[in-house]
Amino acid sequence: RDKLAHVLASYDDQLHAYDDDEVVEVTVQAIRDALASNEIEPWFQPQVELGNGRPVAVEALARWRRRDGRIIRPAHFVALIEREGLVGDLTDHMLTQSCRWKRHWDQHGVRLNLAINVSPQLLADESAADRYQDIVRRQGVEPSEVVLEITESSVMADAARGLGVLARLRLKGFGLSIDDFGTGYSSLAQLSQIPFTELKIDQGFVSGAHHQPRKRAVIEASLDLARKLQLDVVAEGVETVEEWQMLAELGCGMAQGNLISSPVPGSDVAAALGRWRRPEY
Ligand code: C2E
Ligand code: MG
Ligand code: MG
Ligand code: MG
Repeated sequence: RDKLAHVLASYDDQLHAYDDDEVVEVTVQAIRDALASNEIEPWFQPQVELGNGRPVAVEALARWRRRDGRIIRPAHFVALIEREGLVGDLTDHMLTQSCRWKRHWDQHGVRLNLAINVSPQLLADESAADRYQDIVRRQGVEPSEVVLEITESSVMADAARGLGVLARLRLKGFGLSIDDFGTGYSSLAQLSQIPFTELKIDQGFVSGAHHQPRKRAVIEASLDLARKLQLDVVAEGVETVEEWQMLAELGCGMAQGNLISSPVPGSDVAAALGRWRRPEY
């Protein structure tokens, strides 16, 4: 049964997504066109409470649905978007489209918060807090219903400068999550200064942790830190019932991963949540 998540082919697989290590020709102009024509869109992966299995949020993950039907994942275009200074456009687009979907689910009685990935360049964007507030409010969503995920390594690279921008976002009510926690090089002093509300334990620690005491120790230490700093915790990349059980026993708050659902298009979120059953063991 622990193999179930692997047996169920993900949407990425069904729709013949390029592997992350395949060579895909991507030009800047093609990316601009794709953003303008909505070929780049958010897909969503549920985050559920480990205690009761209840869905609480979805993380928006960028997917480029090319006209030939193939799916291009972020590994093939986010770095280029960042280099070309287009990442503000990507984030605004993902935020806008995700809020539209959220409003749609709200209207059908499915209440889900949003988690949106942001890039390191956000830390230099002095107008981000006002703009993001405008974007979400225009779609009828409150900042408190949105968590912005920023990778640990990027925050720490420019903590002094980023602090002002992050503090302003927090004051507006946005949640702030440390993505890929454990893979960066933050000191506890730095971490405690930034007004984070959530910590996401990287998949690298989750994967196989039930039979690897060292990984489990990192998870336990992360949970301990989160409790002391009063942060929510999401374990990412949960693929097996054994991982789920261990995280539940350690008191981790939320789980995300292919065990629950792979990322799906907005139109399929309700169905994916309908299929989901908390594991029994
Ligand atoms: P991330 O934010 O850490 O997202 C988690 C990644 O793990 C996603 O890959 C997701 O599809 C994958 N994943 C989730 N559960 C499982 C699982 O159980 N098993 C396995 N093997 N993988 C799982 P994805 O969608 O390819 O995204 C990769 C990264 O691209 C993200 O990492 C994020 O850093 C970045 N990204 C995605 N969308 C955006 C965006 O809109 N803007 C920015 N700036 N970055 C984005
Ligand atoms: Mg993320
Ligand atoms: Mg992550
Ligand atoms: Mg990750």
